[in-house]
Amino acid sequence: MTQFTGGCLCGAVRYEINGNPVRVAHCHCDDCRKATGSSFATNAFFKEDDLVILKGITKTFTHAADSGNSMNKEFCPECGSQLFGFGSGGPGVKAVKVGSIDNANAIEPQIEVFVSKALPFTRHPEFTKKFEKGRPR
Ligand SMILES: [Zn+2]
Ligand SMILES: [Zn+2]
Repeated sequence: MTQFTGGCLCGAVRYEINGNPVRVAHCHCDDCRKATGSSFATNAFFKEDDLVILKGITKTFTHAADSGNSMNKEFCPECGSQLFGFGSGGPGVKAVKVGSIDNANAIEPQIEVFVSKALPFTRHPEFTKKFEKGRPR
């Protein structure tokens, strides 16, 4: 059942998600900051199979993370909006950028990672579990 719909700023890429997130995390790492152009990223992780691209083709940028994993950022080639991320460290799941979801009001982060890198002005919700670095496995 479709739980969420979303897409990029220009509308060239549209998707739907047939499930609920397995995890939602604020990430304060340098890579997320650069890639999103924002002070931190909110990543909603879904099972890869639950994510269906309805329209458009994303472009993928691959880079190495501090962990040594290879990370991929998927974005709209027309408008540059970042949509999804996936990495060699998390097979079978994709991180959907919460800002690309049409109505993300029901989504709430449970954890925050790389809190040690957060910009000083960042306000952290009381209800999140906070990790100085990445999520322990
Ligand atoms: Zn676009
Ligand atoms: Zn990050």
